[in-house]
Amino acid sequence: MRKPLIAGNWKMHGSLASVMALVEGIKKGCSSFSNIEILVLPSFVHLSLVRDILVSSQVSYGAQNLYVGREGAFTGEISGAILADLGCQMVLIGHSERRHIFNENLNLVAKKFQSALEFGLKPILCVGETQAEREANKTEKVIQEQLMSVIDLVGINVFQHAVIAYEPVWAIGSGLTATPEQAESVHVFIRELISQNNVDLAKTIRILYGGSMKPENASSLLAKPNIDGGLIGGASLDVESFLAICRAARNE
Ligand code: PEP
Repeated sequence: MRKPLIAGNWKMHGSLASVMALVEGIKKGCSSFSNIEILVLPSFVHLSLVRDILVSSQVSYGAQNLYVGREGAFTGEISGAILADLGCQMVLIGHSERRHIFNENLNLVAKKFQSALEFGLKPILCVGETQAEREANKTEKVIQEQLMSVIDLVGINVFQHAVIAYEPVWAIGSGLTATPEQAESVHVFIRELISQNNVDLAKTIRILYGGSMKPENASSLLAKPNIDGGLIGGASLDVESFLAICRAARNE
């Protein structure tokens, strides 16, 4: 049985006051939730604040990105070692905004994934196709390339410490959501790909859906057998919306 994971990607949002209110609201609102894992991903500079509030809470926190290596002359970058020292447990790797706005290529994404593991962080590897790629029937090809470039570098077995997030680029922040059937068919494809490399791992690895998931569509997406949780952008910035999605993952 795969425990659902609901992760809130706060992107480049928040002030000290709004982050404090958001994390306190989530902490309080989910204190009675049991069969679910909840993760928040604030901006780097809000991590310490979030850490202090989440002491003795079941909500964990992580980061949206890292740079490879332990330390060095990389102005403006944050390493996995720094994140682990701050108590982060997970980190997003290869979010489509990193791939498309910041030109992170397959090779860099794979190295970042490797670096997360090196410092004991659980990577959430984001994969997904653009609208043009979907229209050209290249969805599976693109996702296969994004996954295999990581598997080729680190091997399949370390994916026992990882999570995969399927995020169709056309659905992120656009208000468009993949239908549960569209999402499920890509999740099945991803699980089969993992299975070709490690049959047992394919049964346990969690594959999240991300792309305009909201309280209104969360239940139908999360009801699909191969959708093990959600990576939530916009709706994670509102306490009530985020908690409603967490409730949907618990099937309440
Ligand atoms: C995301 O950024 O990972 C995301 C899914 O955003 P949104 O929910 O806003 O589409």
